[in-house]
Amino acid sequence: MYTLKNEGIFKMSKDNPPALRVPDKSTVEFETLDCFSNQLKEESRQIDTLDWNRINPATGPVYVEGAEIGDALKISILSIELPEWGTMVAIPDNGVLGSLIPESQIKRLPIKNGLVQFSPSIFLPVSPMIGVIGVAPESGEIFCGEPGNHGGNMDTTRIAPGAVLYLPVYHRGALLALGDVHAVMGDGEIMVSGVEVPARVTVTLEVVKNAGVKLPLLEDRSVCAAIASDEDVERAVFEATAAMAAILMKKRGLSFNEAGMLLSAAGKLCFCQIVDPKRTVRMEVPKTILSGLI
Ligand code: CA
Ligand code: ZN
Repeated sequence: MYTLKNEGIFKMSKDNPPALRVPDKSTVEFETLDCFSNQLKEESRQIDTLDWNRINPATGPVYVEGAEIGDALKISILSIELPEWGTMVAIPDNGVLGSLIPESQIKRLPIKNGLVQFSPSIFLPVSPMIGVIGVAPESGEIFCGEPGNHGGNMDTTRIAPGAVLYLPVYHRGALLALGDVHAVMGDGEIMVSGVEVPARVTVTLEVVKNAGVKLPLLEDRSVCAAIASDEDVERAVFEATAAMAAILMKKRGLSFNEAGMLLSAAGKLCFCQIVDPKRTVRMEVPKTILSGLI
């Protein structure tokens, strides 16, 4: 197994030098900082002392040998180790309820015995997930805080242990980086933070040749899903739905109309996050209908 200490990058780009090179089918452990670069350790700290240039770091990138343009990178998420504390924030004008937030607040939440202690009487079972996970984008550089077809800040609750994520490979080696782990997060992430944590994430990386993957695809124990991001949420909905219809046509031998009807009858459209300039949605299909993506 390979281990990668945090080598924080803030932009995903083909020009980032690899922090690690691994053969195909390697298992890699990533140490990650939280989305604030671990800056918020006290509730008394003022949010305006935060260095915004250090928001949304990702650990990497990892160069996967054999990954070529047009392939997909298959990322099997094996485990996420959580620390003993998580952090949440409320920031005026940020998130769905931003206009109603009177003043900023930092909240530190103990994590113990598989539970996040939200208050003396409210406990949330941990459900660890990766907020930022992506490859070098097709062109230019993209902040780690931004989602897109390369992955990035998708804030998708299903990107969790047991899941397999497929990302398009745009550049040789793929250049995978990840970070922004949440101990638990609600679909939509309406206040712009989950329970933000530094973490240790273990994944296996595998190249799938000529996979035809155009946007992030996910498979876990219960669903297959296509994930899409766009400034226009309806456009994101269209992209995720069209991608899943195409997969149903191919894998289940359905006509376009039938694939659409099947999604209309049994698909589940979910918000991943609704708070970044680019919104992220996913279209899920139960495994009983679609047993696999590739
Ligand atoms: Ca995030
Ligand atoms: Zn986060």
